[in-house]
Amino acid sequence: MARTMKGAMLLGPEEIEVRDLPVPEPDDGEIILAVEAATTCGTDVKVFKRGGHPRMLKVPTLFGHEMAGRVAARGKGVTKFTEGAAVVVANSAPCGECDYCKRGRENLCTDLQYLNGAFAEYVRVPARFVDRNTYKIPAGLEFGKAALTEPLACVLHGMDACELDKYGPGTEVVLFGAGPIGLLFVGALARAGHKVILADPNPPRLAVGKELGAWKTVQIERGGGQAEKVKAMTSGGDGAWVGVDASGVPEVWLDAISVVRPGGLVNLFGGCAPGTSIPLDTHAVHYSELTIKGVYHHRPDTIRRALEMLADPDFRADLLLSAEMPVAETEAALRAMIAKDALKVVIRGGA
Ligand SMILES: [Zn+2]
Ligand SMILES: [Zn+2]
Repeated sequence: MARTMKGAMLLGPEEIEVRDLPVPEPDDGEIILAVEAATTCGTDVKVFKRGGHPRMLKVPTLFGHEMAGRVAARGKGVTKFTEGAAVVVANSAPCGECDYCKRGRENLCTDLQYLNGAFAEYVRVPARFVDRNTYKIPAGLEFGKAALTEPLACVLHGMDACELDKYGPGTEVVLFGAGPIGLLFVGALARAGHKVILADPNPPRLAVGKELGAWKTVQIERGGGQAEKVKAMTSGGDGAWVGVDASGVPEVWLDAISVVRPGGLVNLFGGCAPGTSIPLDTHAVHYSELTIKGVYHHRPDTIRRALEMLADPDFRADLLLSAEMPVAETEAALRAMIAKDALKVVIRGGA
């Protein structure tokens, strides 16, 4: 194993320096992951723009959280994985003991630990992650696509929250936002036989949505107020059973609420900026018996299911991988995301 590695160090808002750093050594129970692929995500863009994250990251810091690679070294006591094994490591690990973990709601764990630093050649994976949220990559699945396990796991957690069993097969779902997460959501819903109406301002992204199985697509204006236009696309024009926001814009949250029919369910999946709020039509919520849910993150169960789904070549999540770049070009990759030139970029550790 090499002694030094390249790593993209975040120093402040929009300030990255690629440094030569010592390759980490594993403690007991830990592994060192040689990163083969780390995919960029909207959260990384936020972290890059803001220069950190209130809960996860203080500068100077390595960052990047969607990763797949090989076990380069193992600490004492690690028997689960052999050296050289191809694995996916989730970006969080629950405690397994709190009230939430005991109820299968590990995403709300009161002691959830996060793992960052994937835009580098190596990552030290703490023991809790090795024990609870690291998985072998199925044969035939390439690293770039495998790195999508984390965002897809969020989507599968979001899909569980939609209670689609209750609404039946072929449920009409309106989904706002054709970013990477929204597009994965389209793919997962279509795969389960549901009819997705995808709404977004960006035609090339709507086209990817079609390829991933969207039933209908509709180009909308930015900034909300689009519910009537989208509702008109549903059968009979009276709204969908399920409305999903995958944009994280408060005005679009309102559209997601307005687009469902009586008895419908609203999944507020896109996280809005802190301090924002929306006015809620109490009359509609009460008399139309709307179910409104906030949904966050993923659980070990959905990480496992996501990895399995990605291993199916017919599930074309790889359509989201717009480009590949080395660690040294992490900043260019994030700027391509900001310019909407890329849905996701695969950063290749390749040590
Ligand atoms: Zn992500
Ligand atoms: Zn817990």
